[in-house]
Amino acid sequence: MKKYDVAIIGGGLSGLVASIYLAKAGKAVAVLEKSDRSGGRAGTAHKNGALFNLGGHALYRGGEAFSILRELGVEVQGGIPNAKGYAMWNNDIYPLPASVGSLLTSKLLTLYGKKEFVSLMVRLSRIEPHAVGRISLREWAEKTIQDPMARHIFYALCRTTTFANDPDHQLAGATIKQLQRGLKENVLYVDGGWESIVNSLRDQAIATGVTLLNRQTATQIEQSGKIYRLHFADGAMLEVPFVIVTVGPAQTCRLVKDAERTSLRKWREQARPIIAACLDLGLKRLPNPKHHFVIGIDQPVFFTNHSAASRLSEDGITVVHLVKYLGAEPGNPSEDERHLEQVMDLLHPQWRKEVVARQFLPNMTVVHDSVTLDKTSFPGPEVPEMRGLYIAGDGCGHGEMLADAALASGKRAALRIIQEFAINHDESGVSPY
Ligand SMILES: Cc1cc2nc3c(=O)[nH]c(=O)nc-3n(C[C@H](O)[C@H](O)[C@H](O)COP(=O)(O)OP(=O)(O)OC[C@H]3O[C@@H](n4cnc5c(N)ncnc54)[C@H](O)[C@@H]3O)c2cc1C
Repeated sequence: MKKYDVAIIGGGLSGLVASIYLAKAGKAVAVLEKSDRSGGRAGTAHKNGALFNLGGHALYRGGEAFSILRELGVEVQGGIPNAKGYAMWNNDIYPLPASVGSLLTSKLLTLYGKKEFVSLMVRLSRIEPHAVGRISLREWAEKTIQDPMARHIFYALCRTTTFANDPDHQLAGATIKQLQRGLKENVLYVDGGWESIVNSLRDQAIATGVTLLNRQTATQIEQSGKIYRLHFADGAMLEVPFVIVTVGPAQTCRLVKDAERTSLRKWREQARPIIAACLDLGLKRLPNPKHHFVIGIDQPVFFTNHSAASRLSEDGITVVHLVKYLGAEPGNPSEDERHLEQVMDLLHPQWRKEVVARQFLPNMTVVHDSVTLDKTSFPGPEVPEMRGLYIAGDGCGHGEMLADAALASGKRAALRIIQEFAINHDESGVSPY
């Protein structure tokens, strides 16, 4: 292989973003991706006329991902879903108390519950997340919200915005920040699926001179003096002074020789992933047109019609996504699939007759690591014990969540390497040491 300043393992959002910042700074960059296309979990499957993200994806307009995409000149087209929705409770469906009208008529809450829910919503918009202190989401909710149903609805909203179902471990402040983003700044359902974001980033990467090498599976990363020797499944080898690994803590520890003697081990041991089961459907029509957006209150599920806000098919197919939030532990695939089908039975009787495309994704890793109470430090971007080795990806958030963590960490790793070059620049060769 030719000579590069930086090799990035993984061509998902974090790898692509890192590559563009580095290439814009004049570095020779290769992105090595094991599959035959860029995008990773932000890919989009084309099925019988329907465009399926890998589980429902929403872009937070107030988040780091959106502003990094803007900074890189990526214009995201899409629509904002209507917040008027429903809640599932005890296998029945109720209007979600989202507006004054639905709140007044809501049968979910008692009069006291309604008052408390309104004051919670007003308060939420004013809370300074940093001032919440290091407490769990459950501790905060139990201290702050007396009415049990108001608390249930609050947890359900937190699940929907974070994908996490882990109130004993989730950090209250970070969760509230994400909820504020969901409620205040809205989210975008992206036209053409998240593949359109990936394609824009890929095109930019190519235009800025990045080399994208697909079907290259890294099998080992070995430090040898001031360089890293990367080994690939096809026997190829690459030597570079800088490496960014974007594949999550467990795989990073398997790839990097002697990782267990570094802080990568602590990252792996402390990581708390977020896992979900997803049922994605393309329907000829939505059997119950009222039910576009439904949040489970007493079960950790969510239904949303992405076609209501974004263009996801050429021929009028309605694309809907169902999610079951599993927390940090994998679920039982057949039970989870049946559960999500039962949700469809309740919301959209006769839905099976309308299906033209379908994908079920059990045990999807939504993020490799999440913002939890027990962590005392954030992972990355550098690995202090191994100079030149950096980590990025959604397991490397510094308080950001979901794709925000992926893009922000990609940018962080790239900027740190650029800084390192600037400090140690040596005119005579590639290596900055
Ligand atoms: C079901 C689901 C729903 C989601 N919903 C949202 C949402 O609503 N909003 C939001 O902001 N985020 C959402 N996300 C999260 C978002 O998709 C991810 O944070 C983001 O795509 C992760 O990007 P990444 O680059 O960190 O990782 P990845 O996309 O996983 O990229 C890593 C890449 O590395 C490659 N790779 C792995 N091993 C090797 C190897 N040995 N050699 C070479 N290449 C390798 C992989 O093929 C992959 O392409 C969701 C995720 C899921 C799964």
